[in-house]
Amino acid sequence: MNFDLSKENAMIRKEVRRFAEKEIAPHVDQWEKAWEIPEHVFAQMGALGFMGIPFPQAYGGMGGDWVGMHICIEEISRADIAIGLVLDASISLIAQELFIFGTEAQKRKWLMPIIRGEQIGAFALTEPDAGSDAAAIQTKAVLDGDQWVISGVKQYISCIGMANASIMIVAAVTEDNTCEKRIISTFIVPKNAPGVSLGRRYPKLGMMRSATNEVVLDNCRVPKDNLLGDPKRGLAQHLTVLETGRISVAAMSVGLAQACLDEAIRYAKARKQFGRPIFDHQSVRFKLSDMAAGIELARNQYLKAAWLKDQGRKHTFETAVAKLFASETAEKVASDALQIHGGYGYMEECPVSRYYKEAKLNQIIEGTSEIQRMVISRVLAKRF
Ligand SMILES: Cc1cc2nc3c(=O)[nH]c(=O)nc-3n(C[C@H](O)[C@H](O)[C@H](O)COP(=O)(O)OP(=O)(O)OC[C@H]3O[C@@H](n4cnc5c(N)ncnc54)[C@H](O)[C@@H]3O)c2cc1C
Repeated sequence: MNFDLSKENAMIRKEVRRFAEKEIAPHVDQWEKAWEIPEHVFAQMGALGFMGIPFPQAYGGMGGDWVGMHICIEEISRADIAIGLVLDASISLIAQELFIFGTEAQKRKWLMPIIRGEQIGAFALTEPDAGSDAAAIQTKAVLDGDQWVISGVKQYISCIGMANASIMIVAAVTEDNTCEKRIISTFIVPKNAPGVSLGRRYPKLGMMRSATNEVVLDNCRVPKDNLLGDPKRGLAQHLTVLETGRISVAAMSVGLAQACLDEAIRYAKARKQFGRPIFDHQSVRFKLSDMAAGIELARNQYLKAAWLKDQGRKHTFETAVAKLFASETAEKVASDALQIHGGYGYMEECPVSRYYKEAKLNQIIEGTSEIQRMVISRVLAKRF
């Protein structure tokens, strides 16, 4: 067994951390107030290769692996989890779906600009009546000559409201009622396609710099060629990339939790009560130790899931464990970090008050904690 990172991935951690500390961390509060992340950040990350780590050089990628991509997501999320979420949606979900299931022409047209950091992709699955039960979507697509006509409403869609968002991959029902299982297909829908309109941008508990929108598809027309992959396996294709997305959410959680621990240690060493730094009170030290232990385990687990993926091995169980444990750990670590900051932790100017609000999201997106437990228990059911 070898727990060392490859030379390339150790370098990725070092380079991404340097970039994130210099180009991202100092600006996050300002972006949060402005409700945006500037486009140039993604262009910079594209130029450095961070948006294409696991993809072949022929498509502008780095020719690396998913371990490297997730180390990048962790380090970016340590500085700004909202950018981590963009990497999750645009790279782990959209770029990967285009790479695995797209035609050569689709890859050249849509994948390459995303890898260059010029464009962002969005994943449009959730609907008002279909969240955890994704197979219940109502959006429909009908072939009309050489165009698909798509109608429906998608909700809580990340990234599509960003200025540099170019496409979304939309799941829609293409055949209904006639068979036991409805047939769901996936389509590449440009943001500016006729019939696409962005509904409201949701105000949220936190992370306002990350755009989350409703999307209305009203007889939206896209060319026949915008069908992605196998028309009968759209949902299965989505689930394939969602498995990677869950590793990404785990890596995002670890990055955020690490930022909480860093702040908590710094504060505990500086803040004095009862004549000594609060770090020297055993209950504070033990809280910090528990936080560090949880982060260490969560990091090891997301790396294991990513490594299994890179080996082409099954990783459903390991991924569900990683997503569940890392997101629950991040929420607990954020809460403990806030507690260590006392009253200051509750002040808006304290970074940990922001982390506390942001940590919750990862227990919800890409399969809630309850859905991860369902996935884990399905594996357990087969074991004996
Ligand atoms: C900020 C944000 C960004 C998002 N970005 C995207 C995006 O880019 N693209 C996209 O498609 N979606 C996105 N989503 C949607 C997200 O994936 C869903 O919110 C999530 O899958 C849960 O679905 P739901 O909200 O409908 O909750 P529901 O499915 O209604 O669940 C409500 C509660 O019931 C529980 N529950 C449901 N079914 C079961 C069950 N069988 N057993 C036990 N418990 C159950 C859930 O765990 C949860 O606690 C985003 C959501 C948010 C908040």
